[in-house]
Amino acid sequence: MVSCYMCDEVAVSVEHVPPRCLFPKQKDLPIGVDLRRELLTVPACAQHNMEKASDDEYFLGVIVGSDSVNSARVGANSPTFSYA
Ligand SMILES: [Zn+2]
Repeated sequence: MVSCYMCDEVAVSVEHVPPRCLFPKQKDLPIGVDLRRELLTVPACAQHNMEKASDDEYFLGVIVGSDSVNSARVGANSPTFSYA
């Protein structure tokens, strides 16, 4: 019997670390590339798996909505990141 990573309840699923939603789906990648396939997992009870899923989606939204991430460019004329 395996315990949840957050509590002493019996684990009934696994939680991906880092969250799967941070990686592109296989359909959006070249054939044969799957960035979600070998992510680390930890055992999780139903409650903590569900609670973290909503946190993961919120985190993804923060990253996508971040101006410093979306304005980053690669190249000689790249602006530097600003955390102000
Ligand atoms: Zn738990």
